[in-house]
Amino acid sequence: MTQEELFKKLVAHCKEYGFVFPSSEIYDGLGAVYDYGQNGVELKNNIKRYWWDSMVKLHENIVGIDAAIFMHPKTWEASGHVGAFNDPLIDNRDSKKRYRADVLVEDWMAKQDEKMQKEVDKARKRFGESFNEEQYRSTSPRVLEIAQKKQVVLDRFTKALNDNDLEELKQIILDCEIVCPISGTRNWTDVRQFNLMFSTQMGSTAEGANTIYLRPETAQGIFVNFLNVQKTGRMKLPFGIAQIGKAFRNEIVARQFIFRMREFEQMEMQFFVQPGTEMEWWSKWKETRMAWHRALGFGDENYRFHDHEKLAHYANAATDVEYNFPFGFKEVEGIHSRTDFDLGRHQEFSGKKIQYFDAERGESYVPYVVETSIGVDRMFLQVMSAAYTEEQLEGGDQRVVLKLPAALAPVKVAVLPLVKKDGMPEVARKIVDELKYDYNVVYDEKDSVGKRYRRQDAVGTPFCVTVDGQTLEDQTVTVRHRDSMQQERVAISDLKRMVDQECSFARLFKKLNL
Ligand code: ATP
Repeated sequence: MTQEELFKKLVAHCKEYGFVFPSSEIYDGLGAVYDYGQNGVELKNNIKRYWWDSMVKLHENIVGIDAAIFMHPKTWEASGHVGAFNDPLIDNRDSKKRYRADVLVEDWMAKQDEKMQKEVDKARKRFGESFNEEQYRSTSPRVLEIAQKKQVVLDRFTKALNDNDLEELKQIILDCEIVCPISGTRNWTDVRQFNLMFSTQMGSTAEGANTIYLRPETAQGIFVNFLNVQKTGRMKLPFGIAQIGKAFRNEIVARQFIFRMREFEQMEMQFFVQPGTEMEWWSKWKETRMAWHRALGFGDENYRFHDHEKLAHYANAATDVEYNFPFGFKEVEGIHSRTDFDLGRHQEFSGKKIQYFDAERGESYVPYVVETSIGVDRMFLQVMSAAYTEEQLEGGDQRVVLKLPAALAPVKVAVLPLVKKDGMPEVARKIVDELKYDYNVVYDEKDSVGKRYRRQDAVGTPFCVTVDGQTLEDQTVTVRHRDSMQQERVAISDLKRMVDQECSFARLFKKLNL
């Protein structure tokens, strides 16, 4: 199965099992907007809890807020979003399709990496045991030629982005002979800038109305509340403010399912530090955040850092945490050193002093900020991509199983009476009642037990508990484990302890060493 086929299956699975639906589907959907179904919302809430608790509960010096989506329009002038929150777009005249010019070039560069990898793989086969990859990469004329071609483009691309040189960006696309994937032609328009913010009117009449924006990031709600939180919480530097909430971007190209949406959710934390210490904190947060991702157990080799070629207008250092999606390594989270840009600009635009009095230093200053910013939906897709598994079973059977970390699973336990009689449903209901205050538990009595197991595998339920004839005699049940499919006999009185041990968030948090 190709990675593309795998991704298609994953999208279909998300719909079939109540994880993600296209928005307003009965009207044929709305581009890049999605709804979460009965299982999706549970998984999403668990991801949010994993993030929130790891920030707010496990750090004494981080607190949370929940700011409004609508903000005073000056906020977005101060933050630079009105003037500079743009993406370069380009149209293909033949297919009439629109693309992000920077993404076209980035995809071209990724293709060069693939080409080099192919050469390396071929050589490995040829040389067998004695193959030395490093040496081959630094001596093979073919690999060196591709690497050099890529480097030249990368240098031009970085400069074009930093200089905002749209003509040069188009020239790179032409020079690299990039074609439209739909029409296959190079009939491109010029590159133009496109502002990503959605606007609407506030006020009852059009004349008296004010243009306001749907926030494109949650961070600004934190910056404008810096003083409120610092004063009321008597916070001392360094300290952080965390927030989870919706953000909106009028993305030019909506692709890859919930990877790039027009309405999405962010989990952001702004960490305020003494000027001059920001690089140290940036490195620390890189480490802390990588540990958070890796604790989920999806394989350390599937994550990497990618430093930005172009720094945003507010940053002096930036890196992305990338995950190996079915469509390649892509950003899940950004870790940015935002300097004193945001607080400084709000101070300027509001005319209010936004500073921190440092008693040790005996002076006031605008703190520097290190930000960690992750998309809930993108994280959701990351978790689903990693968990989705197709298995061939003995006897020719096949199953689809979501190998979710137990703490994130939408349903923790399914309780199944073997038959719908002889008092088994009543005992099963009692077990549900005992567990339901702590966990999301389902009761299922329809179809054969085998079919019920498959249904639970497909949504990632860690435990299936079957009530049978023996239960009525000795108060034990069969517990079937999702990943191993092993079954064991467990006393009903031990069930809660077993579920606690496997499904608690504490188990995940302990891996973080915070
Ligand atoms: P990209 O380069 O993919 O457009 P970005 O660098 O603009 O992303 P940030 O502004 O750093 O993204 O946003 C922080 C995080 O918010 C991203 O790492 C991503 O997880 C999430 N995010 C950003 N834009 C979207 C979107 N359109 N849909 C879903 N998640 C998004």
